Amino acid sequence: MSALPSPSKIVCIGRNYREHAAELGNAVPPLPIFFLKPSTALIGPGEAIELPPQSAEVHHEAEIALVIGRRARDVEEADAWDYIDALTILNDVTARDIQRAENRFTKAKGFDTFCPVSDARLPASQWAEDIGAGRIQCFVDAVRKQDGALSDMVFGPAFLLSYVSKHMTLLPGDLIATGTPAGVGRIDAGQTVEIRLVGADGGTRMSLSNPVVPRPLVERK
Ligand code: MG
Repeated sequence: MSALPSPSKIVCIGRNYREHAAELGNAVPPLPIFFLKPSTALIGPGEAIELPPQSAEVHHEAEIALVIGRRARDVEEADAWDYIDALTILNDVTARDIQRAENRFTKAKGFDTFCPVSDARLPASQWAEDIGAGRIQCFVDAVRKQDGALSDMVFGPAFLLSYVSKHMTLLPGDLIATGTPAGVGRIDAGQTVEIRLVGADGGTRMSLSNPVVPRPLVERK
């Protein structure tokens, strides 16, 4: 965890894969919708996702994330890759029952430990040649639950960076999580959830595993 940068914000895109929007009964938005996860939700590889007592239905969401390399404000799509330093993977952990009840994102997705992020970074220059035909996957106890082609994203990385940068300035180290494909589902204490980025040749480019535990009752320092 100490090796991870400390982003000023984690911007998360919602409903950016058609099949995932449909599985939750939502339409694909005409423009990106996004929300913020707090930096206090961040954990690193191997750290535990804590299930809070307020939720009975916590879900995994496997996502590609853009790591911002330069201050970005009002960036045009054609220039966007100049501002994306690298790609990584994260798990947009979500208390689905809270999200459904409130139709809001912050409480449901902002709990401590609800943003596991890999410490691996794939240089943005390799995106087109290696990962452009890649897939983002999620495994729960080694059973594949999500397997989405990155080409199925409704809004691509360059458009997303440009769009977000016209609403709020992005700072170095900030993350943009680009949405999750279909297959989201519940995770329970005792399970292990793994996110994988798979390249065009089927090989794993990076992997992020986190155990799932009940939220401890003692106060954490
Ligand atoms: Mg998400």
